[in-house]
Amino acid sequence: MKQEGKRILLLFLCSLLCIAGLDSCTAWRMRAKVRESKTVVLDIGHYYHPERGGQGARTPSAKYGSIEECEFWYMYAGYVKDVIEQAGYTCIITNRGATPADPKLAAQAEKLGVKQINTPEVGAVYRSKQHPKRMAVGMLSVNYALDQNPACVVFLHHNSHSDTWEIWNKGAFYSNREGETMATKMATVMNERILDKGMPNGGEPCRIIIRTDGRRGGGDWLNACEESYVPAVITEVAFLSNPEHAKFLSKKKNAIRYAQAIGEGIVTFLNAR
Ligand SMILES: [Zn+2]
Repeated sequence: MKQEGKRILLLFLCSLLCIAGLDSCTAWRMRAKVRESKTVVLDIGHYYHPERGGQGARTPSAKYGSIEECEFWYMYAGYVKDVIEQAGYTCIITNRGATPADPKLAAQAEKLGVKQINTPEVGAVYRSKQHPKRMAVGMLSVNYALDQNPACVVFLHHNSHSDTWEIWNKGAFYSNREGETMATKMATVMNERILDKGMPNGGEPCRIIIRTDGRRGGGDWLNACEESYVPAVITEVAFLSNPEHAKFLSKKKNAIRYAQAIGEGIVTFLNAR
């Protein structure tokens, strides 16, 4: 009887080891597939409402510049894309909404070939196609992105700290665990080129925040990507409520520099894989 018990325990431990082995084998295979990919997906945050305009964060007033994050990225995502494509990668830009009603932004969307996801209810929570327990507003962009077998996904946003003008410098790249190296490379470029190099940031370096809590902003986008072993980063470095950031980004040449720094961070990561 004792002998039999030992045998069962041994069998049980063996099967556990087998499962763990298969699991890490799957992870290895999926990571290899991601590493071989040369496709970058950039998602323009939020969406454009036909009457109310961009639905992301906005500058509190026009005093130091008038910027809304969704509209900003329609104008400047192309500069991120250019850097990525010049380095030999493919870049797809997505947005969860429909083509903007604003003619200037619509022309931009067409020029950049933005894949409009046309989410039926842009403010509603949707389920991940690849990882059904993950749910979030904006998930349909992630579903599309993961269907492209991407090397990485970057969600283009800006942050805001308050409804009034206030200097706040604690910007970050939010990433999943798979994206920690990418976020670190992106932060290095941001520190070398932008923060306190034109865009005042009070000596604060760019942070890297690993986000695994699906209930927090964009958390389950990152989690869905994580479960496909895809590095993913949300850009929240600049604060539209910070007068110094707003002043900097409302000049076209600075906005281009900023977008290019995002692109260079992504390329540095991809080239080092
Ligand atoms: Zn945002």
